[in-house]
Amino acid sequence: MVENSETKYIGFLQMTDNCLTCGEHFSAESFQFSLGDRRKGLSGIWQLVKCNNCGVISMVPMPTDEQLAAYYDAYSKDDGVDLTRRTGVHYPRLRKLFHQISGDVDPRDFMDVPVGARVLDYGCGQAGYLCDFHDQGVVISGAEIAGHLVDACRNNGLDVHKVDDFSYIPFEDGTFEIVYLMQVFEHLRDPRGFMQELARILKNDGVLYLILPNAASVWRKIFGKNWVTGWFVPFHLFYYDRPMLAKIAREQGFEVVESWSSTPESWFRLNLKAYLYPKENNLDWRQTWLDALPMRLIIMIFLRIFELPLHERDCLVMKFLRRK
Ligand SMILES: [Zn+2]
Repeated sequence: MVENSETKYIGFLQMTDNCLTCGEHFSAESFQFSLGDRRKGLSGIWQLVKCNNCGVISMVPMPTDEQLAAYYDAYSKDDGVDLTRRTGVHYPRLRKLFHQISGDVDPRDFMDVPVGARVLDYGCGQAGYLCDFHDQGVVISGAEIAGHLVDACRNNGLDVHKVDDFSYIPFEDGTFEIVYLMQVFEHLRDPRGFMQELARILKNDGVLYLILPNAASVWRKIFGKNWVTGWFVPFHLFYYDRPMLAKIAREQGFEVVESWSSTPESWFRLNLKAYLYPKENNLDWRQTWLDALPMRLIIMIFLRIFELPLHERDCLVMKFLRRK
């Protein structure tokens, strides 16, 4: 599978479109390919372009607020808030060990939270991580756009604020020591403006974690268009690698402290399904023989061995420090 193979330029691209991360004009050469949704059953075709200047790949045209609202209606079939208290004495250690085998990236495994530090989970969704941190005594807040999730969290005593607009994070300047975004940043329409907002709500020397798909992943090249954990239109609006993120962050006074990547078994399995079932466009809900526990274990072991020498895997974690 080669990304540029059979699709042709289909003409959505307007020469007036600019790259939203660096401002450069797109040209006809910027066009990469067009894609349909494979995961949520949405109909439509979306177009990806690569900026000739900064290299960021993005969706063109950017969806409007109304379009995004309609897309997200199809996003989740399970709207419940996960408030199960699962914290136990041995649980965090076991969880971390399991994640080392499964490849899952979980902020609870690697985030060092000093006593009394304020933490924000932006885009907390069903609040799984937030809940656990809260139960461990971390002073954590959340921000979320889905009103019913915000209400459910608040009813359970969690400090979750409603996001009305992605251009404003609903907290005051210099509120947090730590902010993390789990699979959120690539869904946002204005990366530069949002990075500025992140810098605003963080204290000096505050820490930012971005966890998102890695555009430099080896699996992108191997799976081609079936790399559906990355090429996830119309939800992923941008595709970044480490240097691109470092550049956007540096403009707002962040410096990269460390970064690493890992391929979760569940991501690999989804991409494999996309390859095996090319006509399927409801992959997120398609159960197959690959989901059986023995298969999952085989995939985990394969991934951990195969990925050992690799530097660029599917899920990227970047840790930044905000410097004044
Ligand atoms: Zn650009």
